[in-house]
Amino acid sequence: MSSKILIIEDEEKIARFVELELGYEGYTTTKAFDGRTGLELAETGEFDLVLLDIMLPQLSGMEVLRRIRRTSSVPIIMLTARDSVIDKVSGLDSGASDYITKPFAIEELLARIRSALRKTMPEDSGVLSASGLVLDTGRRTVTMMGKPIDLTKREFDLLHFLLKNKGIVISRESLLENVWGFDFTGETNAVDVYVRFLRGKIDEVFDIKLIHTVRGVGYVIKDER
Ligand code: CA
Repeated sequence: MSSKILIIEDEEKIARFVELELGYEGYTTTKAFDGRTGLELAETGEFDLVLLDIMLPQLSGMEVLRRIRRTSSVPIIMLTARDSVIDKVSGLDSGASDYITKPFAIEELLARIRSALRKTMPEDSGVLSASGLVLDTGRRTVTMMGKPIDLTKREFDLLHFLLKNKGIVISRESLLENVWGFDFTGETNAVDVYVRFLRGKIDEVFDIKLIHTVRGVGYVIKDER
């Protein structure tokens, strides 16, 4: 599936040129010519990356950046006309992934885009581990000391989320939101039930303590090595 890129740029010539070039590279693009429209589009959460001009009508690029960052960690590459150190520093401080100064060579922009997209990938295609347990997110396999562990989809997703946040105590509510989804309407003890399943398949079989209960708060996976 091709990555979706949002181009927020009021200079239509530049926006069209970038759109054309990104199209050749196989990206799907959407254009916005002002800050407000760009922000609304970005807030749909449908984009894998945002190219954001700094000087924009209606809402400045910096303001759009700040508002996107309240709800999203999508990679954002700032396009700045001025080669100003202040812009770069405040942009990066406000959560921009990268910046590029106009006029830019398209190869340079493409390289920055590939790099920014790559940085968001490891979470979804990497290997997570704790206390001898290895979870491969790409192949969706879990092993302990090399021995495969057979998990249901829900068990896998729960283990994945806890491992991704290794060392951080996660509340039942947060687990429900992130693993079961916002539309979950059952009892919050679903989390406890599934943690019990996981302990039955991992902690008890391999005689370790992987998933810890933090009373009144939630659960945490600690690396015990
Ligand atoms: Ca502009």
